[in-house]
Amino acid sequence: MASEDFYELLGVPRGASPEELKKAYRKLAVKYHPDKNPGDKEAEEQFKKISEAYEVLKDPEKRRRYDQFGPDAFRGGGGGAAVDPFDLFRDVFGGGGGGGFGSIFEEFFGGSSSQGQETGGARGSDLRVSVEISLKQAAEGVDREIKYRRYGICGPCDGSGAASGSGKVMCPTCGGIGQVASNQGFISIRRTCPKCSGSGVAIENPCGTCGGEGRVREPATVKVSIPKGVDDGTRLCSRGRGDAGLMGGPSADLYVFVQVKDHELFERDGDDLFHELALPYTLATLGGAIDVPTLNGKVSLKIPAGTQSGRTFRLRDKGMPNLRSSSRVGDLYARITIHVPKKLTKKQRELLVDFAKSCGDKDADVDEGIIDKAKRFFDGED
Ligand SMILES: [Zn+2]
Ligand SMILES: [Zn+2]
Repeated sequence: MASEDFYELLGVPRGASPEELKKAYRKLAVKYHPDKNPGDKEAEEQFKKISEAYEVLKDPEKRRRYDQFGPDAFRGGGGGAAVDPFDLFRDVFGGGGGGGFGSIFEEFFGGSSSQGQETGGARGSDLRVSVEISLKQAAEGVDREIKYRRYGICGPCDGSGAASGSGKVMCPTCGGIGQVASNQGFISIRRTCPKCSGSGVAIENPCGTCGGEGRVREPATVKVSIPKGVDDGTRLCSRGRGDAGLMGGPSADLYVFVQVKDHELFERDGDDLFHELALPYTLATLGGAIDVPTLNGKVSLKIPAGTQSGRTFRLRDKGMPNLRSSSRVGDLYARITIHVPKKLTKKQRELLVDFAKSCGDKDADVDEGIIDKAKRFFDGED
C-alpha cells in the first residue's frame, strides 16, 4: 500500500493522454481480471484499484479534481471505491462477448451502463405553459410573449450556490466521486450521491440569496414564434427556458402548448376547413353567385341552378397552411344548407302561392320519387 497514486497504479506519467491511459488500463485489467486469477485475493484487489484509478482519470472532470485534491479526494470518504470494476471493464472492452471476460457478469448488471456524469448539480425541471390563439393566428403564425415563473440562475452567486469568497469542497458523502456504492459481496452497486446530486462538490459557505441551491424563483418572459399551421395541442419547445439546475446544473426546457380557439364560422380537420353555407332557396333554385367567408377575406362562389341542400363545394387552397410543408395548403369546403325564410311580406306570399299553383301536383322531376313514395304510403298501397 505504499503507492496509491492513480497514475502510478496505471504506470503512466501524469501528463498521459486518454489513449495512453486506456492502453495501460486494458493491459492491467486483462492481467488482473478475477476470471484469469481465480481465488487470488491480491489480483482481485489490484483489479479493483486499477479500475478505480482509470474510472477517475478517464473522465476529464474527475481527473481535474483528482489533480487538484490528490488521491484522497476519491478515497475513503464514502467507504470504498464507487466504481464497479466489471462495469468499467465491459465499457472498455465492449459489452457481450469480449473473449469471455465480463460476459458472465452481464446478467447482474442488465446493461445499466453509466449514463455519463454531468458536471455541476442536477438538471432543473421541464416546465409547461399553454398559450391560446385564434384560428386566424394559427393560419398566419403569431409571435407571443409568455410570462411565467421559474427557477432562474441566482445572480449573487452566479448559480454556484456558494457565498462570495467561499470555495467548494469535496462532497463529504461521496468523497467527490458523485456516486456512492454499496457493496454486496463481490459486486458493488453504485448510485448517484444523494447529498451532491452527483456533482461531487459541496459548498463551504452557502449563498445567502439562494441558500446554496444556486437558483431562485423568479418571473420570466419568453418570446415564442408560433409557426403558421399549428393545430390545437401542438407542443413547442424552448430549450433552456425551464428551471435552472441545482448548483450550476443544466437548465431544463420550457414546453409551450398551443391551444387554438374554436371559430364560429369554420371547423377544422387537419389542414382542411369546413363551413356551413346558408343559401337562400331562391338562389339555390335559380343559380347565381354568393360570397363565402375565408380566413383572409371573402371569395365569390358560383352556384349552379338547382343546387341541393347538402351539396359541398371545394375552394382549393383556402384552408390552413401545413405546419411542415410550406407548399401544402388545405382546402375550404363549403357545405350548402338551404335557407328558408321565416317571414314573408304579403306581396312575397302572393307571388309564392302563385308559383306553387303554377307547379301544381305535376311538379318537379326532382322530387318525383319522394312524392310518389309518400303518396303511396298515405294511400296504403305499400
Ligand atoms: Zn456527493
Ligand atoms: Zn446564490
